[in-house]
Amino acid sequence: MQSITHNDGSKYFPKFSTISIEATWWRADITNEDLSWIRQNLGRDLEGQGSFEVLAKDEELTAGFPEHPLPVAFYENERAPRVMIALGERYDFRRAYLESRQSRDPYLSPHGSFRHLEPGYHFHAFQFMQEFGPLFIESDTRLRGDTWWLNLSDFWDRHARFVAVAKLWEDRFQPEKLRDHWTYIGANHELLDRAGEAQLGYIPDLKYKYIRICPPMPWEWEPFKWELPGVDNHLRSLVYELLYSELILHTQDCIQTWTRRTVPHPEFVWDEEFAPTRAFTSLWSVIWELFGLDVEHAYSWKLCQVCGRLFYPKDRRSVCCNTEHQSLWSKRQWARRHRTSKAPNRSGEAKEVRMTAKKHSPAWIQTAKSTAKAKPRTKKSPRRDKNNAPCRCA
Ligand SMILES: [Zn+2]
Repeated sequence: MQSITHNDGSKYFPKFSTISIEATWWRADITNEDLSWIRQNLGRDLEGQGSFEVLAKDEELTAGFPEHPLPVAFYENERAPRVMIALGERYDFRRAYLESRQSRDPYLSPHGSFRHLEPGYHFHAFQFMQEFGPLFIESDTRLRGDTWWLNLSDFWDRHARFVAVAKLWEDRFQPEKLRDHWTYIGANHELLDRAGEAQLGYIPDLKYKYIRICPPMPWEWEPFKWELPGVDNHLRSLVYELLYSELILHTQDCIQTWTRRTVPHPEFVWDEEFAPTRAFTSLWSVIWELFGLDVEHAYSWKLCQVCGRLFYPKDRRSVCCNTEHQSLWSKRQWARRHRTSKAPNRSGEAKEVRMTAKKHSPAWIQTAKSTAKAKPRTKKSPRRDKNNAPCRCA
C-alpha cells in the first residue's frame, strides 16, 4: 500500500509494505537457466515433442521428469506441452500499468507485454511469466514454491484470442486491415471460441450462464453482404460490439473487495478510509481490465508506422513511437503524395482500388476458411531488454 507523503505529519502514519489485494498478482518462479533450457528444448508449438513420450488423453501426470530442469509433458491432440511451474513473488500490476502509461511504454504492463509475444514461441511465454506471472494460479495457498502443471495450449489459445481482438481495435480506422483481421477471426473462430469461458460475442448471464449480445458476426453473413455499400463502417461498428462483450466476459474473474487508505486527521494525526474496489483472481482478467482502461483513455496504444513497436502516443495525431520515426514517416508521406500528384492520371489508381476490393471477395474469404491456419508473425531472434521484457523488435 502506498504511504501518504503529501502532509507534514506523514512520518507518523503507519506504513504498509505489502501490496494491496486489489493490485496483487504473482510472478512464476523461473530462473534464467530455465529460460535457456526452454529456448533450446521446447522451441515453438510442438517442436520439442521429439525427445518426450506423448501421453494419451486420460494419462495422469503423477511425477515430473527429473532428467530435465523443468518437468515437461506432451499430450496427444494438444498444440503445446504442459510444464510444471512454481509460484514466485508478488508484484503490483496496477503500479506496472501506471508506470507503463507514464513512460508511454506498453511493454512495461502485463497486457502490452502479452500482446507482443510471438505466438507459440514458448521462450516468450516463460519470459512473460517470469515478469508478470501465469494467467491462472492453481494453488489456494498462494505460497511461494507451490507447483502445478501449466497447460501451454490454453496459454496460446487465450493469447490468440486477445491478440485477434486487440488488432481489431488497433486497426479500426483502417478498412483494408480490418477486413483482413475479421477474415482471420472468421477462419479461426472455433479456436478462438474455446479460449475463454464462452464463445465470441457472449457474456455471462445468471439464468442461461451465457447469453449472446453481439449481432451476426462477419463469418455468419451471407457472402453478398461483403459487397454491400457501407460494409467497412459496419465492420468497424462490430469492433465495438465485440470488444464490449469481450471486456464483460473476460473480466468476470473478480471479487468485490474494499481498499483501505490512511488519511490525515486534524486532531488525531491520521485516520483510515475505505472504498469499494475489485480484485482479480486471474491475470487473464487483469489483462482485459488493463486493455479496457486503455480504451477508456483519450488514446490507447498504437503501433509505430515505421518500426511496428507499440507505444502510448503523446497526442492523438502521433503515429510513430518517437520523434525520429515521426519525421521519417512524415517525409515518406510527403514523398508518396508528391509521386501521386505527378502521376498522369488517376485511372490506374482507381483500378488498383478495384483490384484490392476484389481480393476480399467472398470466394477469397471461403478460401481463407478452408485453409484455416494461424498467421505466423514476423519471426525475429528474441532479445531481452533492460526490463527483462520480451523482444520489442518483431
Ligand atoms: Zn518506431
